[in-house]
Amino acid sequence: MKIGDIEILPANDGEGKLPSGYMPSLDWDKHAALLDSEGNFPIALGCFVIKTAGQNILVDAGLGPVTFPPFRGGDLPSNLAAAGVTPDEIDMVLITHLHVDHIGWLVQEEKPFFPKATIRFGEKDLDQFIRAENPDVFAKPVIDVLDPTGRIETVAGDDSVAPGVNVLQTPGHTLGHISVVVSSGEERAFLLGDAVGCPAQLENAEWAAMSDIDQALSSRTREALYKEMEQDGSVAVASHFPDLEFGRVLRANGKRYFSV
Ligand SMILES: [Zn+2]
Repeated sequence: MKIGDIEILPANDGEGKLPSGYMPSLDWDKHAALLDSEGNFPIALGCFVIKTAGQNILVDAGLGPVTFPPFRGGDLPSNLAAAGVTPDEIDMVLITHLHVDHIGWLVQEEKPFFPKATIRFGEKDLDQFIRAENPDVFAKPVIDVLDPTGRIETVAGDDSVAPGVNVLQTPGHTLGHISVVVSSGEERAFLLGDAVGCPAQLENAEWAAMSDIDQALSSRTREALYKEMEQDGSVAVASHFPDLEFGRVLRANGKRYFSV
């Protein structure tokens, strides 16, 4: 995908599937095409490479080279190579949130896997995952390795992080969840992380995921995102949309839908 001079390349780390009950209020009868024969919906473990002004920015770091059935990661390095970058050419990693399927490659064998990269994520995810009474068992060891390197820089607001690349606070799935907005001229692309988990959620912003830590907040965040995206025909994709294809928010019969 080209947004002006900026290139965005999907780099999938693997695959998984979720039971339809993961989105309990979603009207699956109308969206049965998204389900497999067993009633689960297949997902990608999507990461993205943004190439802007001589910088390589990775958005999310997948599950890593592990299998937690039905989730399997491990493909990110080969897909980075396909995108023309090596791990030591990544200048910045933007982590949409600190869930296990987004931080998997940050640390391998107790060392940073992207040795030159600054790691950036929403400040409030530290409260949820690290400073909590019971720190997250996956995120804590990763942060413990990265913190002493001095390369973690959290983002507390809606900040510009590179030419044409902005971070937008989109809380609800986690407290510090961020989305990434790439813009050049009149064009914009949204990388939504897990603010939206499934394309069917475009129909109703109140359809939340079981894993949204604050479902009312995630619903408000989705509504605000949809309004923003449909305004000017921005393209968007989320981490777990099955084919990691960019689409637009369109309307028919008064309802929004996602059109690739
Ligand atoms: Zn996720």
